[in-house]
Amino acid sequence: MSKESPSQEYLTCMGVKTHNLKSIDVQFRLKKWTAITGVSGSGKSSLAFDTIYAEAQRRFLETLGTYERQFLQSLPQGEAEEYTNIPAAIALKQTNKSGDPRTTIASSTDLSDPLRSLFMSLMDEACAQCGNGVVVHTTKDLLLYLDKHQGHYLATVPISLEESASSLRGKDLLAEGYSRIYLGTKDNNAIQSLEEWGDKALPSSFELVLDRLSSGAEHDELVNRCETIWSQIKFSSRFSLLYLREVQNKNDVNNDSNVPFHVQPYCAHCKTHTKLIQALDLDWQSGMGACTRCQGVGNIPVLDSQKIIPSEAMSLGEGAIKTWSTPSFEDFQKNFLKSCKKNHISVDVPYKSLATSDKQWIWKEHIDPFFQFLEQERYKSSARILLAKFRKYVVCPACQGQRLGPIGLNARCQQKTFVSLFQDEIHLTYDWVKGIKNNPKYEKRLSYVDDIYKEVEKKCALLIKLGLGSTHLFRRCRTLSGGEYQRVLLTRVIGNGLTDALYILDEPSVGLGMHEIPTLVECLRELRDLGNTVIMVDHDRELIMSADDIIELGPEGGDKGGFLMERTRPVPLSCISAFKAPLPERKKINPSQKFFSKKDSLSLTNFSAHYCKNLFVEFGLGKLNVVTGPSGAGKSTLIRYGLQAALEKQEENGALKNTEANMDEGVGTWDKLEAPADFFTDTEILYVEQRAMYRSIVSVPATLLGIMDILRKQFSQTTQALEFGFTASDFSFNGKGGCETCAGRGVLEEDLFFLGKVEKICPECNGTRYRSEILKVLWKNKNISQWLNTNLATCLTEIGKVARIGRPLYIACQLGLGHISLGLPSSSMSGGEAQRLRIAATLSKADKRIFCTLDEPSRGLSEFDIGNLLQTLLGLNDQGHTFVVVEHHPLFESHAHHVIRMGPHGGAQGGLIVEREIC
Ligand SMILES: [Zn+2]
Ligand SMILES: [Zn+2]
Ligand SMILES: [Zn+2]
Repeated sequence: MSKESPSQEYLTCMGVKTHNLKSIDVQFRLKKWTAITGVSGSGKSSLAFDTIYAEAQRRFLETLGTYERQFLQSLPQGEAEEYTNIPAAIALKQTNKSGDPRTTIASSTDLSDPLRSLFMSLMDEACAQCGNGVVVHTTKDLLLYLDKHQGHYLATVPISLEESASSLRGKDLLAEGYSRIYLGTKDNNAIQSLEEWGDKALPSSFELVLDRLSSGAEHDELVNRCETIWSQIKFSSRFSLLYLREVQNKNDVNNDSNVPFHVQPYCAHCKTHTKLIQALDLDWQSGMGACTRCQGVGNIPVLDSQKIIPSEAMSLGEGAIKTWSTPSFEDFQKNFLKSCKKNHISVDVPYKSLATSDKQWIWKEHIDPFFQFLEQERYKSSARILLAKFRKYVVCPACQGQRLGPIGLNARCQQKTFVSLFQDEIHLTYDWVKGIKNNPKYEKRLSYVDDIYKEVEKKCALLIKLGLGSTHLFRRCRTLSGGEYQRVLLTRVIGNGLTDALYILDEPSVGLGMHEIPTLVECLRELRDLGNTVIMVDHDRELIMSADDIIELGPEGGDKGGFLMERTRPVPLSCISAFKAPLPERKKINPSQKFFSKKDSLSLTNFSAHYCKNLFVEFGLGKLNVVTGPSGAGKSTLIRYGLQAALEKQEENGALKNTEANMDEGVGTWDKLEAPADFFTDTEILYVEQRAMYRSIVSVPATLLGIMDILRKQFSQTTQALEFGFTASDFSFNGKGGCETCAGRGVLEEDLFFLGKVEKICPECNGTRYRSEILKVLWKNKNISQWLNTNLATCLTEIGKVARIGRPLYIACQLGLGHISLGLPSSSMSGGEAQRLRIAATLSKADKRIFCTLDEPSRGLSEFDIGNLLQTLLGLNDQGHTFVVVEHHPLFESHAHHVIRMGPHGGAQGGLIVEREIC
């Protein structure tokens, strides 16, 4: 990087030594876009997140009050000699930490409010009862009429009394200031004085005379009188309609001449005056708009009988009711069994063979009351945990998940209900937004809300550009993949036009197809052009080459990395593939044509779910099968709702077909699952997903790879351990040996208002997770905590010969994980690292052939690492293992044995297998 002009400002970090970084000096041009690249473990995240972002966070904390400042010293800190020009930073990470289950794409992009304002400003005034348009007049209409139809008029309001209220007397109205009524009969007494009615009850229907109006009157006076009449009606709870009746001579009223003016809104559909739909009726966060049943959440918790009684083959005595099967509910269980015996219900036969009436009794007398009791104890966290454990969420039956009460659900504008804008695919919502602009009807109304319109239009367009067009705005963020969530956040920051900040992005290309990269490039340029500094860690070659500047770290991962590479080449080394195998010959096949023999394949016939309809799909056994296509084309649907669901059902009860779909549980329908007879008995079936991956601070490579048990045993056999009387369990950090302050986690979590949850290193154990006496014991020159801090590659060299340690370490290193340490919490790994660790863990434990589905394994890998991963997978194919991989990366496509391409586009325009290729 050379200085282009003396005025250019730089963000600089001098002498950075965080983790494996080798005292490097780096500078980033402010208000430019810099890509950081390098092979796995070369120090990219250490530089971007653990150094620059950590420093920005610290500076931010320093500006806050004393309370927040006390956390400064325990915040993770990068190691550098000097920093200059660090702007306020926002990290858009992959880890989807939105804890609130209510968070949706709409709320995360700040779209709900502008969309609501836009909708309200554009929609015609509508009846709250039915949503149809209404008629409302104004004084202008009245004046206009008088101007056009010169004459003398009587202004009246029609009143019809309920049977029961018909005891209204003349003098009652007289007391309110009125003097005449009009009875509409043709005789001379059509207008009658209330004074004359006196004590007599008025008829059930008549017109009350408010005033006389005459076209010839002086203009200002006429306006005044009209407005007085108008407000008399408008603010009365009894009146809603005004009649003008022509008066020929002084009192000769033309009975056929009543011209109606609707002062209150009138609905022709409901044939009544009505209330209008208000903005609050469209707000599921307001008490007025929210569905009363689910409080605007869209779903409600119900007891899940499958969780309460997971196995109906168990008897009550064996603990069929899982709720009471733990030691803390022993008394409950005893009382329950006693009560059953008293009521002659057998506690020794399987639950499923109990009479229906007995089952009903158990629920009514014991299970339901138990959960009602817990509901009352909700203030205790133990009760909340139990409730959560045995409940599931179902779509709210009152609003069908639409969150609004009946009035809000009626709102319509340009043929769409308000809620459908959130429930339909985002590209359809975008079509609606564009349709507004093309409809001359809205031209004037739009001019008042131009800014709001632009914001909505821009954000919807961004979401579509970033590959989220086929999802919907009500989609809960928790169900998004890390990459999708990051792009939602990107939409928010670009759409809101924030400026002068530093944005640090973690692999924004993840999950995008090749043709979607150019739009991401556009977005990042836009973010920069708003005046922001963008620092991005990524591996996608096209994305990296589009950045203003490139920084490459290397040359390898772990201790051999952490250097700043000279960038004399046009393309960074990590973007050049390490995979040298020649491309295989391919042939294209009609998607419905079979080509594997039955003994070499697993197939699914007539699979349907979402937009996938009646698909036939087969996978080659012992092959690398790659499923590809644009985002939203149905790849995940095919794998999750089809392949995985079918294998799970088969495992559960041997079923090979499924006629009933359950979208909430991720199960589609299919006619036939076919595989060779020995497949179901001799194959271990594995799913390695990004989203569902359990990532926590207590799951570390040592435990996941099965190395921890061996380590603990080795430690317990040292002379020191025997001397102190330590057993194997003393060397587990989440057991007896763990630090008591942090319960073996090594960190404490603090909830800071501005920064959210912040982890600080445990002051008691200094992050070692262990009690101090445990750390005195050494094995092969290191204590247990030091071993946990050793990376896998070093472990392989130093202790790889210890029985049952070598194989898992070898496979993990093969998969490019040599740089991570034995004790790195999976919560601190990138999505790609955690996924590959899962693959390694499963592969090293499996004694059978495996059939494994992988979700984007190339994620987080440089081309170099992808080459290694492919080589490992293809090597495993040679040993008879099968992989089904959802992937976009071209290297995967070009080296697969079998490519299934879905499309042609996303969402409703997808769901088809458009092409298959084999080699
Ligand atoms: Zn109506
Ligand atoms: Zn509801
Ligand atoms: Zn501790």
